[in-house]
Amino acid sequence: MSSATERSATSPPGSDELRALQLGKLRAGITHVLATNAFWRARLGSVTGWDDFEHLPLTSKSELVADQAAHPPFGTNLTHPVDRYVRLHQTSGSSGDQPLRWLDTEESWEWWETIWADHVYRAAGVSTSDRVFFAFSFGPFIGFWSAFGGAQRLGALCLSGGAMTSEQRVRSMLDTGATVLLSTPTYALRLAGVAGEIGVDISAAGIRRTIHAGEPGASIPATRAAIEAAYSAESFDHTGMTELGPTGFSCSARDGVHLIESEFIFEVAADGELIATNLGRWGMPLIRYRTGDRVSVATGPCSCGSPFMKIVGGIQGRVDDMFTVRGVNLYPSQVEDIVRRHREVSEFVIEHRREREMDEVTLLIETAVPSFSTDRLEMDLRQALGVRLECRVVAGGTLPRAELKSKRIVRLSG
Ligand SMILES: [Zn+2]
Repeated sequence: MSSATERSATSPPGSDELRALQLGKLRAGITHVLATNAFWRARLGSVTGWDDFEHLPLTSKSELVADQAAHPPFGTNLTHPVDRYVRLHQTSGSSGDQPLRWLDTEESWEWWETIWADHVYRAAGVSTSDRVFFAFSFGPFIGFWSAFGGAQRLGALCLSGGAMTSEQRVRSMLDTGATVLLSTPTYALRLAGVAGEIGVDISAAGIRRTIHAGEPGASIPATRAAIEAAYSAESFDHTGMTELGPTGFSCSARDGVHLIESEFIFEVAADGELIATNLGRWGMPLIRYRTGDRVSVATGPCSCGSPFMKIVGGIQGRVDDMFTVRGVNLYPSQVEDIVRRHREVSEFVIEHRREREMDEVTLLIETAVPSFSTDRLEMDLRQALGVRLECRVVAGGTLPRAELKSKRIVRLSG
């Protein structure tokens, strides 16, 4: 047992069967990796049991970035010659980091798509008769490509929304009879707003499911309720990372995200950071990777029947997105849950300043209603969070819009 992580009653192991499956995949994969992969050969010893695994070092994104910078363009985490790989993607770089490049083999790409088909879409009730619309640009980020491939593998009809304006996407969904929408939660709300502006009743368009990733919104009750009301659909959350793979899905119980333990080993550090090891992407694997996501997990049985442990309420936030107001630690997702109950608010950003040794936080909001008063919102925030957050209305279109991950917190030095 590593001192950096703890396995308690609320973290793995799951069933003995699952643990045996994980260990079998891990041992087979690592044997291969140790033979040829320079990155892991420098870090790992052989793994025969869980005790060996738990003594392996944790790996952080900064190590991967440094490795790719030192050995461009792909770094040394390669189990095969580059010729064996068939796809290249890169991280969004939304947090200002250098984007990471990630290569997949035919086998590891099949692994991605199969997880989408067998877990994410299945849990959301998507079937071969669905028409799935992807409201994304189809740039080098992996999320939309893997989701698209997974839906095709499932046998659904896949509709690309690449290179379209929001208005074109709304019309395309209507024209093609789309029944499922994939987008970020923020963009789903924006699309619904655009539909309203052009006189389209999107709630009658026939969209019956929406699946969201990139932000925790679909696990935030108020955000999910806003999306479901706008589309007359049921909304589901999905978690995943370019470096790791598709890690989780929300189920019919609607209270969190199951982590796919048949394809990953998950651990939770003492501070709540999720640590993950993928078990099907051996061409460029990650072993004990610090995701940077703060979670709280539950292992009890779920009403949906899934044997996998669950992140309660979805990802709370990035470990480095936490902010403090008068001694109270908060995540942007807690603020979002209150803000989204006010349907007049179209966009928001949490501005965090350090002034005279004090943390000062202002909520900047854009609203569709010119006469919007912030009093109710401020009162709701104070009641829910226990601290006062000043709210300020800014002109429409001034807050940043991101395609993949809305940056909800902006830090200014005082
Ligand atoms: Zn469940």
